Amino acid sequence: MSETFFPKYPPNISDENLQSLKNLAIDWSLSHGLIIRPPTYVSNNSFVMHAPVSLFPSPFPRKTYEEAIELQPMFNLLFHKLSQDSEFITQVVEEITKVDDFVDNLYKIYLKVKEEGIVQPISLGLHRSDYLLQVPPDATEANILQVEFNTISSSFSSLSYLTGELHRYLLKATEYYNSSELLKSDSLPLNDSMTSIPKGIAKAHELYGSPNAVVMMVVIDEERNIFDQKWIEYDLLNNNNIHIIRKTLKEINEQGKLDPNTKALVIDDKEVSVTYFRSGYSPEQHPTKKEWDARLLIERSKSIKCPSVSYQLVGAKKVQQVLAIPGVLEKYVTDPTDAKRLRASFAGLYPLDSSPEGEAAVKLALGNPEYYVMKPQREGGGNNIYANDIPSVLSKLSVSERSSYILMDLIQPPLMKNIILRQGELVEGEMISELGIYGIFIGGKGKDEVIINEIGGHLLRTKGRKTNEGGVATGYAVIDSPLLI
Ligand code: ADP
Ligand code: MG
Ligand code: MG
Repeated sequence: MSETFFPKYPPNISDENLQSLKNLAIDWSLSHGLIIRPPTYVSNNSFVMHAPVSLFPSPFPRKTYEEAIELQPMFNLLFHKLSQDSEFITQVVEEITKVDDFVDNLYKIYLKVKEEGIVQPISLGLHRSDYLLQVPPDATEANILQVEFNTISSSFSSLSYLTGELHRYLLKATEYYNSSELLKSDSLPLNDSMTSIPKGIAKAHELYGSPNAVVMMVVIDEERNIFDQKWIEYDLLNNNNIHIIRKTLKEINEQGKLDPNTKALVIDDKEVSVTYFRSGYSPEQHPTKKEWDARLLIERSKSIKCPSVSYQLVGAKKVQQVLAIPGVLEKYVTDPTDAKRLRASFAGLYPLDSSPEGEAAVKLALGNPEYYVMKPQREGGGNNIYANDIPSVLSKLSVSERSSYILMDLIQPPLMKNIILRQGELVEGEMISELGIYGIFIGGKGKDEVIINEIGGHLLRTKGRKTNEGGVATGYAVIDSPLLI
C-alpha cells in the first residue's frame, strides 16, 4: 500500500541536468538568505552555507493539508484554555516533577509567579502543530495524525517560506521541472509564515503600549539557524519600526532588572515589551542557576512572554497524552464537531504510570515495541526512544521514572521519492514528510478574551525513510514545501 500511495515522482532527469538544478538551487539559496551557519563555528561569523532543502517540493494530499490548516485555530484556542487552567496543569505536571528536574524547575517558577500574582495577563502564542500522514489499511485516502503541538521556539517559519519560493523559482527558471505533470505553480500553496510570526510579535508589542520599548529574543550562543531568526528581526524593524535585542539567558541574568514599581523588564536601559524565546526549551540551555534565575525574572515581569511558563508547560507531551483520554479534550472544546475533528488527528497515546492504563501500556510496549515510540518531556529533537530500543530502556525504569514518559503509536507514513540537497550534495531516496502548521494566538486581559487567533502558514520537513527523528537543526531532515495533489 504505502509503496504506491504517491504517483511516480520526482521527474526523471539526467544527471547533467540534476547538477545544473543543484547549482541553481544553491545560488538562489545563498542569494536569498535561505542559509545557515556551518557546523563548525567560525569566530568571525563570516561563513554561511545553503540550508538543507529538498530539490523538488514533495507531493502532499490537498485535503489533508486543508484539514491541518482548519484545525489550527481550534488547537490554538484549546492550548490557551489549558494554559489558564491551573488545576489541570497541577494534575498533569506534578507527578513528572518528582523525577524530571527540568519540568520541576519550570513548575516551581509557574507556582511562584502564580502566588505572587501575574502582572501581565496578555499572552502571545506562536505555535506549530506537526503532523504525519497515515493511510489506514484498505483505505485509498490518507489522513493526518498529530505528532506534537509546539508552544515554544517553533522554528523555520522564515526558511520555510524561502524554500517554497526556491521551488517556485526552479519551476519558472528551468524546463526540467516541467517533465512532471504534477509540478504546476498553482499546486504550490502560498505561505505567509515569514510575515505571520513578526506580525504576532508586533501586535503583542502594540498591546504592551510603550512604543519605545524593544522586543527581546532569548537566544543561544553560536546559533546555526540564526538567519531564520534574523528575518523576523528585519520584518519587525522594516515593517513595524520595532527594535529587537538578542540576549542569552546568562546575559539576561547578569544585565536584566525589574522596575520595582511597574515590574517592567529593563535591559541595556531599555524596557522590554515582548520576550520571545528561541532558547529555553531544553536542560542544556539552563546549565546553572543563573539561567533559571533569568527565567524567573522574565516570568515575574510585565513583558509579554512568548511563551509564558504556563504555555510552555501545556506544550508537554504528557498533556497531549492526557488530552487523548476520552472526555478530556471535550471538556475544553464544547462544539462536538470541532472536538471530533481534533480527536480524529490524535494517534494512540498512552500513559506509562502506575494506573491500570499505564501498566497495560508497559505490556504493549514490551510485547510489541515495533509499533510504538516512547517520549520524555523534552523538545528540540533527538530525545525519543523508538521501536526495538524501547524494552531495554523501559525495563530499567522505576514506576516513578516511567511516569515521566508517554507511549505513542508509531505513525507509518506512506513513502515517496525525492532528492534532497545538503552541504552541496544531492541524495536521492525514499522519503517521509512531516507537515507543520503555525498558529498565532493572543489572549487578552479578560479570561476569555481572544485578540488574535490565526493560521500562520506552514512548514514541510522531509527525511529519509529510515530516520526516526525529524528535526532539521539536529541534522535529520531538510526543509521542503508541499506540492498539493
Ligand atoms: P520534538 O519535540 O523533540 O520535536 P517530536 O514528538 O516531534 O519531538 O518527535 C521528534 C520526531 O520523531 C518527529 O519529528 C517525527 O519525525 C518522529 N516522531 C515523533 N512521534 C512519532 C510517531 N508517533 N510516529 C512516527 N514518528 C514520530
Ligand atoms: Mg517535533
Ligand atoms: Mg517539539
